[in-house]
Amino acid sequence: MENKPIARTLRLFSQLMELHEVNPFKIKSVANAAFKVDKLPFPIAGKTLAELEKVDGVGKSIAGKIIELFEKGTIAEMDELLANTPAGVVEMMGIKGIGPKKVAIIWRELGIENTGELFYACNENRLIEAKGFGLKTQEEIRKAIEFRMASNGKFLFAQVEKEANELMDEVKSIFPDALKHFAGEFRRLSEIITEIVIVVGSVDHELAYNTFMQSNILNNVTRNENHVSGELQNGLLVDIICVDKADYFKELFLNTGTDEHVQAVLERINTPLDQPETEELIYQKAGLAWMQPELREGTTFLDKAEKNQLPTLIITHDLKGSLHNHSTWSDGVNTVEEMALYCRDNLKLEYLGMCDHSKSAFYAKGLSIERVLQQQEEIDHLNKKLDGFHIFKGIESDILYDGSLDYPDEILQKFDFIVASVHSILKMDEEKATSRLITAIENPYTTILGHPTGRLLLSRGGYPINYKKVIDACAANNVVIEINANPLRLDLDWRWHQYALEKGVWLSINPDAHRVEGFLDMHYGVLAARKGGLYKEMCLNALSLQEITKVFEKKRSAVKA
Ligand SMILES: [Zn+2]
Ligand SMILES: [Zn+2]
Repeated sequence: MENKPIARTLRLFSQLMELHEVNPFKIKSVANAAFKVDKLPFPIAGKTLAELEKVDGVGKSIAGKIIELFEKGTIAEMDELLANTPAGVVEMMGIKGIGPKKVAIIWRELGIENTGELFYACNENRLIEAKGFGLKTQEEIRKAIEFRMASNGKFLFAQVEKEANELMDEVKSIFPDALKHFAGEFRRLSEIITEIVIVVGSVDHELAYNTFMQSNILNNVTRNENHVSGELQNGLLVDIICVDKADYFKELFLNTGTDEHVQAVLERINTPLDQPETEELIYQKAGLAWMQPELREGTTFLDKAEKNQLPTLIITHDLKGSLHNHSTWSDGVNTVEEMALYCRDNLKLEYLGMCDHSKSAFYAKGLSIERVLQQQEEIDHLNKKLDGFHIFKGIESDILYDGSLDYPDEILQKFDFIVASVHSILKMDEEKATSRLITAIENPYTTILGHPTGRLLLSRGGYPINYKKVIDACAANNVVIEINANPLRLDLDWRWHQYALEKGVWLSINPDAHRVEGFLDMHYGVLAARKGGLYKEMCLNALSLQEITKVFEKKRSAVKA
């Protein structure tokens, strides 16, 4: 065994002790030994206890631990600490800028148990409330996590959207007269991006890639046939495909859809593609209506394209209101009034649904019954004041472990609508998670099922659910399913939107905003919904104020009946 792994184990041991607030002298001596062992000019493996004790900075008790490590491959005392620490908490100690002391606060006070939740909390501004954390620390942690996420080559769409558009602007300025467009994942609006692909069609493709090779828009540039590949500052891979103008639409088509999609379309065409002048002509040859790039994931929409029954995909402008949002009453940054005015004046919406956290969400200042009543009073008052705009009284009710909601019926009936979500005890097998959700769905007060799997993209998988059973239950109980628009969530996954729509289940694009800027996430929700094939007639918050008021009233009167 080399010294490095020994030092690493000792360092983890000292961090775990610090996390669990073991005797500070002991922590210090183990941390010191880890440092010294790392720097030793000779290997310590094979040394006897007596020899180890004499090594500077090691001492008697730690020498014993090292011997234990040599003999058993582990240290019992450390294993015990590890057993009492969630794996995600151990992982968080490895993030640059947060030591065990901060992780202890994050874990114990904020109830955060892994890196994904921590990233989400940074975005929701929740860290600044904890002792010893400020806006600056929060921002540093957020950046460090973003860096780690990027280091495996995967990015959230929202993380790269700006850079991708800036790159396109540069391409445009270099070749104003060329045809150019994004292809690949970015054009398909995929929620996770591993590479930006741009197709450039110009009179002289040789000149085009020579120009790109010499420009400094990409780092680490390499050339492979007609591809110029490189990366952006943040490590995102870029592939610029330079072709002659006549081949442009063919290449754009070939490089946009998934392989499965492209093959399926090509199989329907008996003659060579030649040099089509538009993408429409390619689909026409295949006997299909032109397909929006976001629908080119596989073969799901080919049937509809053949029958010319593709949906008119939803756009942001179709949305008339925003449901599921938080205010200063729980863990939000802005007041109810600020949230409402932003929706009315900046976004030109007709209504806002307030859904602060319910009482079990103690880490997010969930509302006691008393505070629910106070907030409703405030909303009544604001509704009188806000001309032509309405705030609906909602709640994001925790789904408790047994599937029940977080308040007694007499309180539940005071809300205009209820979003039911799981926030705690996320470790469940599929059977438990599915039945927990279904119990909540069957509760007559549940209007919307919030972020159905609890996933955080690129960092937390979410609990496994039987999608069909959950969606079927929503259909049977007239419950709407949320498309949580936070770019980390996008949950319900677009791969299940078609199944939901086929079953007649409505979807709702909810930003889960914790501050006014959070409403802008509805953009990402719309992109995900478009991939799923959602159209405005099946989107709850595309209803006008008048229409949605009736829907909420109908649901509530069904409970009384
Ligand atoms: Zn939630
Ligand atoms: Zn929420």
